[in-house]
Amino acid sequence: RLSGQYALITGSTSGIGLAVAKRLASRGCNVVLTGYGNVDKALSEVKASLVPEQKNQAHYIPADLTKDSEVLKLYDESCKVMKRPVNILVNNAGFQHVSPIHEFPLDIYHNMMHVMLDAPFILIKCVLPGIIGLFFFQKKKKHKWGRIINIASTHGLVASPNKSAYVAAKHGLVGMTKSIGLELCQPLFKQVNCTCNVICPGWVETELVQKQIYERMKKSNRNYEQESFALVSEKMPKGEFVQPHHVAHMVDHLCQEASDVINGTSIPIDGCWTVL
Ligand code: NAD
Repeated sequence: RLSGQYALITGSTSGIGLAVAKRLASRGCNVVLTGYGNVDKALSEVKASLVPEQKNQAHYIPADLTKDSEVLKLYDESCKVMKRPVNILVNNAGFQHVSPIHEFPLDIYHNMMHVMLDAPFILIKCVLPGIIGLFFFQKKKKHKWGRIINIASTHGLVASPNKSAYVAAKHGLVGMTKSIGLELCQPLFKQVNCTCNVICPGWVETELVQKQIYERMKKSNRNYEQESFALVSEKMPKGEFVQPHHVAHMVDHLCQEASDVINGTSIPIDGCWTVL
């Protein structure tokens, strides 16, 4: 199913996005990475995951997702380097800022909305015509198959204090996923096998969380291990992190035939966080 497909994964230079890119590359997908920092390391790790017999490729395209023009350019350039329209889109890029709302900097609020809500909207809008096969060169060789997979968070389903912008963006992404899932059931998409779902992970052991652990350590007497256990077990009773590869595995699963009927839904990977 995944061999020879064309995937764009945002925020794929580290953490969850990198794990997803490696997983899709190892399944024979062509992949485009994007994000900041660690680019050479990320690209070489993904290239090492490619399947030589499949001749699939990995590319890196820089883009600042706070800017609409760069998001649009990212889509165009991704299709250009892969020589086919993107048909697997993983909207993963994101960042956190923890602050009470009365002190929350407005520029950070706007950047969060751009990266975690506007950019996914624009990319989904760009990707769907290619999946439906509206491009002239696809008329003969249609590949009316696609997957849109958004990475929200448990904070797309429930809230925590001092994360109002993040919680708003992630709830927005969950809502957008529901609406697009429904659109994909409309007559225009009758002959198209495309789904849109959102994964909602709990605490995942990545840079995004490490920053929050260091911040908490400033106010406690705990060392890194103690603080990370305290942070995780407040919400996930076993005190164990989700790992990036767990999320990557779910992305792979959503691309398989067994998932053709999973559409418009939120999939928590959260060690019981949302059942409490
Ligand atoms: P990470 O910091 O390792 O990765 C974030 C990625 O987003 C990086 O590649 C970064 O370069 C990219 N990015 C950030 N701002 C960008 C911008 N303006 N333009 C382009 N790229 C930008 O973090 P992660 O934990 O792997 O997070 C990935 C996604 O998973 C995020 O959307 C995050 O909200 C979500 N998430 C993370 C956790 C967690 O506990 N780590 C839990 C639930 C959801």
